[in-house]
Amino acid sequence: MTLPLSNYSHILYQIFEFTQNLKLSQKKLYWSLVFLFTFSWFIADFSWLIYDEILSINPINIAGINIIYTLPNVFLAILITVYYINNFKKWNKYQLILDNIVIDSILLILIWTFMFSQNGITFHTNFDYLNTLIYLFIDFYILSGIATMIMSFNLKRLEKYIFVVLFGALIFVFTDFHYAYLYFNDLYVANTMIDGVYSIPNVLFAIGAILAQPVRMPKDEFEEEMLPENYRKTRYLNVLLLVFLVLYIIKSYSLEILFASTCIILIHQFFTAIIQDAIRREFLLKKEVQMNEQLENEIKERTEELICANKALVEISNKDALTGLYNRRYLIDYLDSLILNKPNNSFALLYMDLDRFKSINDTYGHPIGDKMLNILSKRFIDNCQPNCTIFRVGGDEFVLLIEKQVNQSYIYKIVHKILDLMQQPIFIEPYVFRTGVSIGIALFPQDAEDRDLLMKYADIAMYEAKVNCRDSHYMFFHSSISQKIQRQHEIELLLKNVDYTNEFLLYYQPQYRSSDHSLVGVEALLRWKHPEQGMIPPLEFIPIAEEIGVIQQIGKWVIGEAFSQIKKWNEAYHLNLKIGINVSPIQMEDIHFLTWFQEKLANDQINPNWIDLEITEGTTMNATVSTEELFDKFSNLGVTISIDDFGTGYSSLSYIKKFHINTLKIAKELIDNIAEDHNTLLIVRAIVMMAKGMQLKTIAEGVEEIKQIEILSKIGCDEIQGYYFGKPLPAEELEKEHIIKNINNEIL
Ligand code: C2E
Ligand code: CA
Repeated sequence: MTLPLSNYSHILYQIFEFTQNLKLSQKKLYWSLVFLFTFSWFIADFSWLIYDEILSINPINIAGINIIYTLPNVFLAILITVYYINNFKKWNKYQLILDNIVIDSILLILIWTFMFSQNGITFHTNFDYLNTLIYLFIDFYILSGIATMIMSFNLKRLEKYIFVVLFGALIFVFTDFHYAYLYFNDLYVANTMIDGVYSIPNVLFAIGAILAQPVRMPKDEFEEEMLPENYRKTRYLNVLLLVFLVLYIIKSYSLEILFASTCIILIHQFFTAIIQDAIRREFLLKKEVQMNEQLENEIKERTEELICANKALVEISNKDALTGLYNRRYLIDYLDSLILNKPNNSFALLYMDLDRFKSINDTYGHPIGDKMLNILSKRFIDNCQPNCTIFRVGGDEFVLLIEKQVNQSYIYKIVHKILDLMQQPIFIEPYVFRTGVSIGIALFPQDAEDRDLLMKYADIAMYEAKVNCRDSHYMFFHSSISQKIQRQHEIELLLKNVDYTNEFLLYYQPQYRSSDHSLVGVEALLRWKHPEQGMIPPLEFIPIAEEIGVIQQIGKWVIGEAFSQIKKWNEAYHLNLKIGINVSPIQMEDIHFLTWFQEKLANDQINPNWIDLEITEGTTMNATVSTEELFDKFSNLGVTISIDDFGTGYSSLSYIKKFHINTLKIAKELIDNIAEDHNTLLIVRAIVMMAKGMQLKTIAEGVEEIKQIEILSKIGCDEIQGYYFGKPLPAEELEKEHIIKNINNEIL
């Protein structure tokens, strides 16, 4: 035992320190076993030293020392076993078993040949013999383990220190074999070179510990990761064939042994071929599974992307591009889900239509119309309650759904909020618009349990609100309006195909001065004589014409007729009669109307003093700055402007003062009660007096009785129009009944 103890301590320290610093892992276990190997060897050497040097007893005969010397072998064997167990999964077990059998058989042959067969060793049965045999077998196990490992390792992956450690282990095992050979042949002499060689493995282990740095394993390629570590490594065994041959040539091997060894290798190669094929197939299968997984993942990713894109598409297809509100398509889906999924639910459907939007669109152009819709939509969105959903279902049509809290008072509250929002001025440079909205309300399930019917009823109620409820602007659906609406739809259709020259005609109602009962003018009143329907009253079709946007065309036709008629009468009878022409607010809003009117006056050579434009009170109320200017411009043409139906609306006289107006036509509703109701008389008198103060002319409408004429004359009303003097008549009749009679002073 020649290795100095100080060197041992150094080696032990190196291995121990390295092991100590390792994290708890397989590697730590391996290195702990290496440490135990060296440590037990140290204890054995140390004990030897004490017996040999201090006690002067030959330690070779001490059984305990021999047992201690067996410990390193045991630890190395454990190391190999642990390594096997840990890596078993990485190896292909069939190939491993086959390799092991082959290696073991070859080793057995080699060891037998060299150590026992040629030397005629006789076995003793004493303990030392047995002990030496035991560790010889352990060595045999270690050697075959190392050989299998080398064959199975992927050498490219192997770190340097493992080579060093394996090399150390090999030296140890071969030294042991040599020792066993010496021992069995009684050739062993203590403290000879062989004892020095024994310390080499310990030194190599220490070097291994120094070299072993915690290096991360390089990332393997896909294939290497999946293939077992001992795949295709068995070809190294073929080298043995060469070794056998050399041994045979140098006469160390007999022909039989060469034959047996070669057979073993060939059998090994045969089974290897089968196993390798199986490995390859298994690998391909795994690869396929992995690729399938990869493919599945990719498909999953694509599907998710597609779902996302689809969601975005659905969102886009459910929304209106201009306003960002939900569209009609979504309304239908939404209604269906409400009706089908929650049949016990109740909700209100509010169908809303902007008033006169079409004419604004036609007059000011689509960009302005679009801006207006955007502004109004934003108002809707900003003020939408959480239980309400707003949809844009057509050009200027919106639907509001009220869910959950569907009682009358709540609906009223929402409706008034909407009306308020819609009536606020809309600023689109350089214009200021005022629009209104008509709202039809249908309730689920009270009014209808079917989606289409519910929408239809809300639409009908809206239509009714637009045409017949100009003050309140909203209407709850009830069955009685359904018939009425059907009639209105019918008229709408008839109006779109009306033959102007053959179906339209003007009636004229005379207007008399109250002081001397002389004829001062006529009011042109449109009549529609439909070939099948007969007479359709203007109060029925004019609001519809306004709504569907044909009023401009009708208005122009009326103006043309009225112009030629008044020209004809005034020129024929040398009169200066005025003709009152009703002008719808929608006509006034048309920016081209003024120019057209001016040109028409000039072309038809009409004296503007003959023309009086009758405009309803509502027009002036909703008037914007541009309407005020418009009134001025018409007045500048020389025509006069009358406010129709004055007193029924809400315009104050001071408000009227802002506009260039000539006449107030006092509404029939006031005149009707003037003789019976004192208060009405006071109102009418106040109107007349204030009009006089503002230099405005007054004309009373719907005068039917002499009593009314007397009162009106007394309070100073300038002119009278009504059945008392005459109903509206066709041109020839009016001419005969009023113009000619008036010329002849035949009137009352
Ligand atoms: P309005 O401008 O207020 O016309 C007066 C209406 O009262 C006329 O009804 C006339 O026939 C009726 N009337 C006149 N005196 C009496 C009376 O003593 N007793 C009774 N019960 N009724 C009287 P009409 O012709 O049915 O016209 C209704 C409305 O239709 C008009 O009201 C006017 O606003 C509109 N309208 C008529 N022609 C036109 C037109 O050419 N263009 C436009 N935009 N509107 C028109
Ligand atoms: Ca009128």
